[in-house]
Amino acid sequence: MHDFHYVSDQLSGTTESAPLLLVVDDQPSNIQTLYAIFQDSYEVCMAVNGIEALAFCALRRPDLILLDVVMPGIGGYALCEALKQDSRNCDIPIIFVTGNADPLDEVQGFEVGGADFITKPFHATVVRARVQTQLTIKRQADLLRLLALVDGLTGVANRRQFDHVLDAEWRRCGRSGQPLSLLMIDVDHFKKYNDHYGHQQGDVCLRAIAGVIKATVRRPHDLTARYGGEEFACILPDTGRHGALTKAREIEQAIRKLALAHADAPEGIITVSIGVASVSRQDPGDSVASLVSAADAHLYRAKREGRGRVCCLPDQS
Ligand code: GH3
Ligand code: MG
Ligand code: MG
Repeated sequence: MHDFHYVSDQLSGTTESAPLLLVVDDQPSNIQTLYAIFQDSYEVCMAVNGIEALAFCALRRPDLILLDVVMPGIGGYALCEALKQDSRNCDIPIIFVTGNADPLDEVQGFEVGGADFITKPFHATVVRARVQTQLTIKRQADLLRLLALVDGLTGVANRRQFDHVLDAEWRRCGRSGQPLSLLMIDVDHFKKYNDHYGHQQGDVCLRAIAGVIKATVRRPHDLTARYGGEEFACILPDTGRHGALTKAREIEQAIRKLALAHADAPEGIITVSIGVASVSRQDPGDSVASLVSAADAHLYRAKREGRGRVCCLPDQS
């Protein structure tokens, strides 16, 4: 048993690339058997009761949970129900492990959101196949979600995810009274860059710019998105005008520092123009669209005033 990864060992654990299985069972012999079956292919962690399992899931995200139905304290079905109600954990497949193959029992397991059943005594091949099937489904679902939300060229959020997050953060900041800021970033003279260096080099440039923005805007709730073409946007929740301006200037400077040659631009390098808009306290008449148009208006002013700069309403607080 000494080589199991106990829950407490995982508190500071790093994310491994092998799928992470969490085995929840109050009987050490069951855990040992499942561990022996899976240790070669997966990272296997264990919890001996529902409380430990919930604590584990609050810290790490298992790819699959093998869950004993009958346990003292929180039983398997109740634990499954609790995990399924939590948006963070609801898409983790849960396979119930039971000594009782009663069909009525299985009905209840599926009703609370279980993905499958494994009955004791274990047959290694069957158990492996069932776990593999659920992991494949999970991986495909994760990939689909990712493809739906991420921009394929640059790896930052796409426009769909931007719209979704901006809407959610607008409402969240409205409720909490926290400020919300938005940066609109447009690459200067990018058509000429493509004309001179070709679209492939243009793509390389867009990736580099996205990387710089992402590295600069890095609070957990911040979001960097590709708004379209050569335009990026950053959503900065709980950030007022001053903080947003600072971030915008950092981005503008960091992209200058890349010193990507642009022979047909007045400064000879790639620069960006940035419009900054902030709402510190929403009025009932405010809308998220007005925040976007304000950032857009400041961006176009930055363009008019000579590009390679940050613009914001001068007297906004
Ligand atoms: P301004 O300084 O006023 O922003 O000028 P601009 O040339 O950057 O702006 P314009 O909107 O005229 O041109 C944008 C260019 O961005 C044209 C388009 O070919 C290029 N572009 C948009 N999306 C991509 C992309 O995915 N890859 C590449 N390589 N270029 C792109
Ligand atoms: Mg441009
Ligand atoms: Mg543009």
